[in-house]
Parts: sequence; structure tokens; C-alpha cells
Amino acid sequence: MSIDNLLSKLEKVKPNGQGKWLACCPAHNDKSPSLGVKLTEDAKILIHCFAGCDVESIVSGIGLSLADLMPESVSYKKGAKPPRFNKYELFDRLAFETVILTLALRRMINGATLSVDDLIRVLQAESTINDIVRECRR
Ligand SMILES: [Zn+2]
Repeated sequence: MSIDNLLSKLEKVKPNGQGKWLACCPAHNDKSPSLGVKLTEDAKILIHCFAGCDVESIVSGIGLSLADLMPESVSYKKGAKPPRFNKYELFDRLAFETVILTLALRRMINGATLSVDDLIRVLQAESTINDIVRECRR
């Protein structure tokens, strides 16, 4: 499985730095991209849903298996844990979610009401932050 092939199966893909992308997670009802995709130097594909979906449901959501994320020459060891995002990447995401919360807060301070979509995004930011905190404590 090449990274291009994987990205072509995902929705709302956008670049998020060198060898990194954000996309909508196929495993939950994802309106704004909360799936991080990363291509490592040794050609492994890492995926992480910031809403907390496990990797297996994400790949099966687009008709793939965990083995498809591994470079062609390496086979996926059964029972082995898929690689995780590092803390720096989680921190980037945390900073991003903080911006969203700050924007929403400012809008409320200025007396505007949040739309349902905005409210959903704020709740998503809260759960993403909780997930990041949990992830960092592993
Ligand atoms: Zn998800």
C-alpha cells in the first residue's frame, strides 16, 4: 500500500507538514479532519484518530487491514501494537485544538452565540484534548 493509495481513500485530505496529512476519520462521523496520517522514513504509515478510534476500525473503515500500513517487504506481526504518534505531534494537535477553543471563547465573550456546528467542534476539541492527555500518560 502506497501513501498515495491510502490518501486517495480518505476524505478531506490536507497536508500537515513534511510527510504528514490530516483527513476525515472513516471510523466515526468526522466532519472536520481528526485523523492524522504520517509516513515514516522507513516507509511505515502511521494513522491516529484524535477522537480515539482504534487503528483497526479506521483501516477497516476504508476496506484495508493493518498489514496494508506496513511497507510491502515487512509483514505486520500479529498482536504487535501499531506505532503511535510522538509527543511532539500530539503537542502540535493540542496547540491547534487550543486555538479552536480560544476562538469560540472569544466569540462568546463578544456576545455571539455559537452555531450547532461550532458547538460540536468545541466538544470535539474537548474530547481530543482529553485523548491527547491520556495518550501522553501511556
Ligand atoms: Zn475516528
